[in-house]
Parts: sequence; C-alpha cells; structure tokens
Amino acid sequence: MSPPNVRDPSSSRFAPIARRDPRAVSPVAIVWPCPFPVDAYVAAGRGVEFPRPACPSCAGPLVFWSGYRRHVREAGRCLRIFVPRLRCGRCGVTHALLPAFVLAWRLDVAETVGAVIAEVASGACGVRPAAARAGVPHTTARGWVRRFGARAPELGVAFAALAVELGGDAVRPVADAGGFALAAIGAAFGAAAGLPGWLAVGVWRFASSVSGGSLIAANATSPWLMVGKRRFMPPVPPLPA
Ligand SMILES: [Zn+2]
Repeated sequence: MSPPNVRDPSSSRFAPIARRDPRAVSPVAIVWPCPFPVDAYVAAGRGVEFPRPACPSCAGPLVFWSGYRRHVREAGRCLRIFVPRLRCGRCGVTHALLPAFVLAWRLDVAETVGAVIAEVASGACGVRPAAARAGVPHTTARGWVRRFGARAPELGVAFAALAVELGGDAVRPVADAGGFALAAIGAAFGAAAGLPGWLAVGVWRFASSVSGGSLIAANATSPWLMVGKRRFMPPVPPLPA
C-alpha cells in the first residue's frame, strides 16, 4: 500500500533552499484558524468559506488559484480534503491555504498529535499508552514526541512571548523543556481565547495556526516569526459568541 498523500507542496520542504532562485519569493503554507469539524470541512469541499488573507511576503492581495487534495486522518478514518491555493500576482507565487486541523506534512489531525504530545510532555503517561489511546502506531507517536522534544526550548520561548503579546500571563522556563513548551502553548491559547473566535478553534488548532502548521516540522521556521501582527490571522469567518 502506498502511503497516503500528505504532501503540502507549499511547505518549506517541497523546495530545497539550495535550488531556489535567491531573488524568488518562497511559497509558504498559510494556516487559517478553521473552526469547523473535519467532517463539515470535507462535506463542504470547495464551498468552505475560506478566508483570503494578504500575501505573507508582500502583504498584497491574493486570489484563489485552484488547489489540491490531500489526506488527513481523524479518529482512525482517512479523509480527503481540498486545500485551496492563493496566488500573489506581485510575487508570482502561489501559497497553500491549510485549515488549522492540519499540520504540514503530517497525516494525523492537530488534535490527535497534540493529545499525544500533551499526555507525554506533561508526564501523565508514556508514549505507548498515549499512542494506543489516540489510535495511532507507537512509532508514529514516538516521532511526534521526539520532534516536539527537540523543538521544545524554541517553542517554549516563542509561545511564552506570544502569550505576553496577547496580554496573557508570563510563563517562566522550567528545567523540563517539554513541560515549559506545553505550559507556554497553554498560556498563549488562554490569552487568545479572550479574543473573538479562538476558544472554539481549540488549543492545538491555535498552535497549528500560529506556527504555520510547523509545530513539529523538521527545518521549521520558529513560530516566533509567524506571530507578528500581520500573520496572526483572526478566526474567519467570525464565530457567534
Ligand atoms: Zn506577494
């Protein structure tokens, strides 16, 4: 069986830096804070009310420009979703517009990945029982936890800074980097949840949104770079209170 398609062509791993034209603007995955259940997103297909953010490179207008399909796994089911592309005429580049329940290059939804990471990083249990509860292979869960652990110091600092930027509590680093990162993500989400729309999006979709889907990506840019005012996209469409 061939592996399910989880390519996100606009994520950074698609175009190795060495082969790019140095003058060219790089396509990025734009992650929008989609509040809809995965099933509703799948059912709506191209009819989802997608937001149309400004170009992440030049802040110019973007237009919808076709799209692609990729798989996502939720609760043991593999589903195919439509991912629109947005094109910037000024930059001559198309960006993928990923819903926040997706992490770039990962098959499983952000909530599944986040639940495993939270259980293990908080010390509640080991990888094996967390993987069994989430219904994912042990090796897959171990990969997430290792990647999160490797990025934890950087993620902790970035999310702690975001928490403060959003008017939330300061989170002090602790000896355990994973615990610090987890606390910082929680604090940043706690602060964001005071703003319209975010509470319904949930903590792991929030984390995916502000990290551009790269929460546990290899070679990720720091989410610190993604949370400037321009990229901190409010949930669209606005949700009823
Ligand atoms: Zn542009």
